Amino acid sequence: MATIYYDRDADPSVITARKVAIIGYGSQGHAHALNLRDSGVDVRVGLRPNSSSVEKASSAGLRVTDPATAASEADVIMVLAPDTAQQAIYTESIEANLRPGDALMFAHGFNIRFGLIDPPDGIDVVMVAPKGPGHLVRRTYEGGGGVPSLLAVERDASGKAKPLGLSYAWALGSTRAGVLETTFKEETETDLFGEQVVLCGGLTSLIKAGFDTLVAAGYQPESAYFECLHEVKLIVDLIYEHGITGMRYSISTTAEYGDMTRGPRVINDAVRAEMQKILADIQSGAFAAEWVEENRNGLPNYHRLQKEGAEHPIEKVGAELRAMMPFLSSGGPRPQDVSGG
Ligand code: NAD
Ligand code: MG
Repeated sequence: MATIYYDRDADPSVITARKVAIIGYGSQGHAHALNLRDSGVDVRVGLRPNSSSVEKASSAGLRVTDPATAASEADVIMVLAPDTAQQAIYTESIEANLRPGDALMFAHGFNIRFGLIDPPDGIDVVMVAPKGPGHLVRRTYEGGGGVPSLLAVERDASGKAKPLGLSYAWALGSTRAGVLETTFKEETETDLFGEQVVLCGGLTSLIKAGFDTLVAAGYQPESAYFECLHEVKLIVDLIYEHGITGMRYSISTTAEYGDMTRGPRVINDAVRAEMQKILADIQSGAFAAEWVEENRNGLPNYHRLQKEGAEHPIEKVGAELRAMMPFLSSGGPRPQDVSGG
């Protein structure tokens, strides 16, 4: 059975006795900095002086310094820059400012698991990884709740790394919801697998393949869009709330019979074998090496694939249909129009 920690397991005085640096002020960074500050923690935000986030963090009442100053002032350094930027930030601004007894923290295990960051002995290495996007981490905290987190200790130099991680998770609001103990290895590998095979890669490819099949057979793209993309949310909401059996209870018996007999033909043994290969590439570090190399080369494949994806016919018909359903949107800007910085 997994170990899950709650408020009663955390000692708030551990984190309030420390000086915390939050490096980065994007999705996770703003949520961590503000939640910790509101929980009574001494927080500073480390940003490049030319970052567009400096103004945002300052006007939220946070103290902002450059990353090296933040790391040198603090004894708990939470790295919340993009995973692909962390190695350079660590080498340039953090490494020289680590003192024995400091804690280096992450919200995802990528750089530690694949050896891109290798902190010196004497430093606690801890992960508190919220299982939700930053705006929810902030909004849920403000509403008195919390987003669950994963907690992992890679190195316990002080002998007190776990109580520190739990106390940090308390300040973030996560012990209100549950903090699941894991390892850097498990978090990193399952996170990459989930996003590649199910949540992002598997789902978007499934939607597009279904859409393409209907359109190629002569059906209207609008019908294919509603069927293969729009309705995904309705089904996923039912699964999220009631599980797969609960979802099947809500659909027609015809849909249920088709689900149970045809689903395994789509996700067949060949697909399952491919899932194992993808997992093996994650475990061996082959995927990480490929992604690091792609970044070094200036992201040519990434940009090409992004462009191809945006030009798929499902995006054109989708934009037209969603414009007729403005109530679908929460009213905020499109995610692709919100840039970090
Ligand atoms: P992000 O892209 O939203 O924000 C990164 C921020 O880092 C930028 O806004 C900027 O302020 C800062 N930054 C960029 N380059 C920098 C530099 N050279 N020096 C200093 N600051 C710099 O990133 P994010 O999505 O919040 O991800 C941060 C970490 O949290 C990652 O490890 C990620 O895997 C993890 N994480 C993200 C989510 C999520 O939902 N976004 C969920 C769980 C964990
Ligand atoms: Mg994830």
